[in-house]
Amino acid sequence: MRKIDEVLAGNRSAAILGHIHPDGDCVGSCLGLYHYIKKAAPQMEADVYLEPFRKEFFLLPGAGDVHHDFQTEKIYDLCIVCDASDRGRLGAGAAILDRARVTVCVDHHKTNPGFTQITVLCPETGSTSEILFELMEESLIGRETAVCLYTGMAHDTGVFKYQSTTSRTMEIAGKLMDKGVPFTEIIDQTFYQKSFSQTRIMGKVLLDSQLCADGQCIYSSVSLAEMEALGATPMDLEGIVEQMRLVDGVEVSLFLYETAPGIFKASMRSKSRADVSRAAARFGGGGHARAAGCSLTGDREGVLAAMLSCVKEELAAHD
Ligand code: AMP
Ligand code: MN
Ligand code: MN
Repeated sequence: MRKIDEVLAGNRSAAILGHIHPDGDCVGSCLGLYHYIKKAAPQMEADVYLEPFRKEFFLLPGAGDVHHDFQTEKIYDLCIVCDASDRGRLGAGAAILDRARVTVCVDHHKTNPGFTQITVLCPETGSTSEILFELMEESLIGRETAVCLYTGMAHDTGVFKYQSTTSRTMEIAGKLMDKGVPFTEIIDQTFYQKSFSQTRIMGKVLLDSQLCADGQCIYSSVSLAEMEALGATPMDLEGIVEQMRLVDGVEVSLFLYETAPGIFKASMRSKSRADVSRAAARFGGGGHARAAGCSLTGDREGVLAAMLSCVKEELAAHD
């Protein structure tokens, strides 16, 4: 598939799905595609299904149209999955995918095995939103699509600074800016802005952090009870693992947080050498070399020890 219009032609309805715990690229790519379909194929009925996301993303056009309830009887002609690396990452959306006639996935996770009829996988590209831009007819990209894709690109590139950022990324961001994206507001309000409880929970996690592997690894963890004491939820932890990675001399940051009693999410980031997706894959997770995650069950100390031993192995492989 060279252009998304090829799969839009001849279909009357489309479901758009992203991954569980939607991030900026997930929400941005799904909503960007939604607005594009409204313009490029106005006769088509398009619905976006996503788990509830951070309220900062309500700023995006169309955020209010997103369905958070996946219980639908509808059978869609077309189902387009954005930014999800495997079927398990769809959560309840998998049932919608299974019933659709034509299935497509647009993604940039190198761990994606290909689970739809058509897969557009570009592991070198910084965001799914950037891939979608390349699949769209530029003249049919309106302001709404531009705002959503720009947001997705900004989030997955750490505001255009990660190694995945290319001159083409900047060129596309420029073209989107020209379509009227309020970029200062988008970046400040969806990326940097923190609530008071987000700020306090970040402070606690950073204060509790430890170094290991001769200062190459920084790690920290937080329980549900500790979050509750500061009025925070797992949705308030965005940006913490990136902040930890900034520490001088650190190659890998590992952050564990409890999402349900006895279930921990591990978030990892690396600076330049270690491939953290390999450590995540050992526990059934995935992601990219510089950003990956997985879920583990057990007590906090046990889960932390298991993750740290994999991280240390990955660090030793690059010594
Ligand atoms: P996070 O640490 O949750 O921000 O995730 C970092 C990257 O790893 C993202 O690109 C995610 O899509 C991916 N990732 C996180 N958790 C998982 C998981 N359980 N399975 C597969 N990929 C994941
Ligand atoms: Mn994502
Ligand atoms: Mn992404």
